[in-house]
Amino acid sequence: METLSTHSHNYDSGLMERLLFRVAKKWVAGYGAGEAVAAALGANSRGMSAILNFLGEDTADVSAVEQTVSEYLSLMDMMHARKVQGCVSAKPTQLGLAIDYELCLQNFRRLADRARELGQFLWLDMESVKFAEDTIAIYLKLLDQYDRTGVAIQAYLRRSASDLLHILEHGGKVRLVKGAYHEQEEHAFSTREEVDANYVKLMKMLFESKSYFAIATHDSSLIEEAIRMNVSKKFEFQMLMGIRDELKGELVGRKFAVSEYIPYGSQWLPYSVRRIRERKRNLLLLARSLIQQ
Ligand SMILES: Cc1cc2nc3c(=O)[nH]c(=O)nc-3n(C[C@H](O)[C@H](O)[C@H](O)COP(=O)(O)OP(=O)(O)OC[C@H]3O[C@@H](n4cnc5c(N)ncnc54)[C@H](O)[C@@H]3O)c2cc1C
Repeated sequence: METLSTHSHNYDSGLMERLLFRVAKKWVAGYGAGEAVAAALGANSRGMSAILNFLGEDTADVSAVEQTVSEYLSLMDMMHARKVQGCVSAKPTQLGLAIDYELCLQNFRRLADRARELGQFLWLDMESVKFAEDTIAIYLKLLDQYDRTGVAIQAYLRRSASDLLHILEHGGKVRLVKGAYHEQEEHAFSTREEVDANYVKLMKMLFESKSYFAIATHDSSLIEEAIRMNVSKKFEFQMLMGIRDELKGELVGRKFAVSEYIPYGSQWLPYSVRRIRERKRNLLLLARSLIQQ
């Protein structure tokens, strides 16, 4: 028998989800691929390339992984048909890394095959540190066969300088980010100063390499540092949808290559929680939306 409290719990969680989505949709294109493609075309019209991500992570179920692969394949076709300038970026655990390494590698190969057919690039997101080793191994295996692929490296991880060196030795392409997950001190720098200093160190390694790379941050001082280090323009800036739009426009105006990362899909909650946590003001935004309902 259902109790009153079950009812009120369901009501509360549905309401909470709707209120949270009001805030989340600042960072997320919507639930479907059509909305993501429309947002990508919008980014293109503002002089940026688009990087689309179908939200989902830590998938433990093989059939859900298979659905995710199908989603990415049809998204890539749709991007091609609608003449989107851009590519996709996938998380290893949504392609099966939490289940089986070989399954994940095989799935990335399927996406890379399609990307190659369509002339698109393919990015691998980086998740929590327990997946870092396998993600890099998968990336280097892919790189053997698919040149137009790249992987995210997180400046907050202590291991990242040696990972980056290893990837650059293989001619790999890297998206440098600060890092978005909660990690233990043994793995990650904990102060902003240490993370930023490591970001600058890794960025210098990228500028000294021959590889293409992406500086993925909204941090003005790191962006200015990149502009100071730049001599050859073999890199791009990448920023997330809904964050610092005026800065994106300014960089496009200064003739830098800029890509906007655009997530979509029903699994928007963990992604949005990471965005809310990054900035105190976003908590206020959330509180205001709760009050206004
Ligand atoms: C294209 C792209 C891809 C990414 N891929 C990955 C990945 O694969 N793995 C991973 O761990 N992380 C990834 N990240 C996230 C990244 O690790 C950081 O968590 C995120 O970019 C915030 O750090 P920041 O470099 O912008 O610096 P911060 O110091 O956090 O922010 C600098 C400034 O940017 C603005 N800002 C930053 N975040 C917000 C926000 N949420 N809301 C409003 N303003 C904000 C503020 O003005 C802030 O002062 C990616 C980021 C980008 C841009």
